[in-house]
Amino acid sequence: MENIDPAEIRKFEALANRWWDPEGDFKTLHDINPVRLDYIAAHADLQAGPVLDVGCGGGILTEALAAAGAEVTGIDMAEKPLAVARLHALESGSGVHYATATAESLATERPGAFATITCLEMLEHVPDYASTVQACADLAAPGGTLVLSTINRHPKAYLLAVLGAEYVLNILPKGTHDYHRFIRPSELARAARGAGLRVEEIVGLRYNPFSRIAKLSSDVDVNYLLRAVKP
Ligand code: SAH
Repeated sequence: MENIDPAEIRKFEALANRWWDPEGDFKTLHDINPVRLDYIAAHADLQAGPVLDVGCGGGILTEALAAAGAEVTGIDMAEKPLAVARLHALESGSGVHYATATAESLATERPGAFATITCLEMLEHVPDYASTVQACADLAAPGGTLVLSTINRHPKAYLLAVLGAEYVLNILPKGTHDYHRFIRPSELARAARGAGLRVEEIVGLRYNPFSRIAKLSSDVDVNYLLRAVKP
């Protein structure tokens, strides 16, 4: 059994053509991208070796990593977002490589191949996030850095990320997120440790939908990032 939810993949297939519209369905990903890129670049040596972006979608982060000097591969299981990503990279001249793969399938082919692994806003869309975390750990080279992000299963996240974003402000398509798939920081940390990783930091990411400004924060109730190192 592959760790894929076909209904989730279909959602992203249907939205693919809007991926690079900074005012469209993925505008929050565009708005938060500079902050998350800065965080990754501050804590991982992007020139240390190949970088893998798991669940890359249309490539917003993937291209930004390449622009920051990384040799990047982006993988996803949705074909249309990947086609959009490839086309966009062609237009922008970004030297990103894209492939259709799950973290699990790539981990059997190229274990230990990546110096840095990012897996952002993806874990809440898979049936078994711990399996994805294990695969990311397997894909990392010893000493490699992993940055994962997701949404906390906290009432505040239900209010802001589901009700607020999808139903009141309409900044995300309805049905984008399933509250029950959200992951508490303690659960993600346990999965990371269970995969043999050393958890270095968990940091919140606050997003103000009115000012459209994103900032790192000690508040992990809604969005957060987890950084880990493979010993
Ligand atoms: N990481 C990107 C996109 C997040 S959207 C960013 O933050 O900008 C979530 C992405 O995860 C979608 O493109 C979806 O197709 C992908 N995805 C969902 N399940 C997946 C799986 N099992 N394997 C690989 N990608 C998956």
